[in-house]
Amino acid sequence: MGKIIAIANQKGGVGKTTSAVNLSAGLASMNNSVLVVDTDPQGNATSGVGVNKADMDQCIYNVLVEDLPAENVCVSTPVQNLDIIPATIQLSGAEIELVPTISREIRLKQALESFKEAYDYIIIDCPPSLGLLTLNAMTSADTVLIPVQCEFYALEGLSQLLNTIRLVQKHLNKSLMIEGVLLTMLDARTNLGIQVIEEVKKYFQEKVYQSVIPRNIRLGEAPSHGEPIITYDPKSKGAEVYLELAKEVISNGERVR
Ligand code: ADP
Ligand code: MG
Repeated sequence: MGKIIAIANQKGGVGKTTSAVNLSAGLASMNNSVLVVDTDPQGNATSGVGVNKADMDQCIYNVLVEDLPAENVCVSTPVQNLDIIPATIQLSGAEIELVPTISREIRLKQALESFKEAYDYIIIDCPPSLGLLTLNAMTSADTVLIPVQCEFYALEGLSQLLNTIRLVQKHLNKSLMIEGVLLTMLDARTNLGIQVIEEVKKYFQEKVYQSVIPRNIRLGEAPSHGEPIITYDPKSKGAEVYLELAKEVISNGERVR
């Protein structure tokens, strides 16, 4: 039975998509079968794993809004062991179109049911909001992984995110847990980064991953080449740390079991 991890934070630009792509590729490189589910209309995870959005006439939008079987839109990627359910800009209508539909929060959960057996990990990249798409992701997921950018306002907005997680636990998905908190874009040259790490650890304690993602130019470049960091520049610090993170995610999962 695969584990479904939603990568969520309503703030934009904190490293959700970068983490979804590179954690997935890391897990896949360790002989796990992995499915990425792109639920952001920007489709950055889709292009980030080398899938051309312009070639898609159907995407997760058709699954969520039109009940198309997810099998019909799931495609393999150039990365070994890695498939994706892609998103295109068409998905931007879903947030509004889903509002009057029945079971609007559990559409993704229903769509992914048949995939849980087929994959070891299903990683959902969420959009930068706490709207229906993120609610669908949290309702489908076993756990939520929260990327937190190492910047001055790091903790701002997190109470809103945690509140949403609590509401989902209460009404939609009782067994939802926090997978972990991932510190991203650390600039090791500044004291601020270190202070933020301490602050976030005080708040989330052992939930914070040992692996801290540095600010790394190669990580920023890789998406424009449609490659995860481990193939784009396997020797980079970014590749090294995302592989460490994949190991942590695997061993945390074993500990819980
Ligand atoms: P989100 O999905 O939360 O909006 P992204 O993962 O798209 O955030 O990251 C925002 C931008 O920062 C992207 O251009 C991405 O390539 C870049 N980026 C993300 N993580 C890093 C990093 N560790 N070092 C350098 N650039 C990064
Ligand atoms: Mg994103």
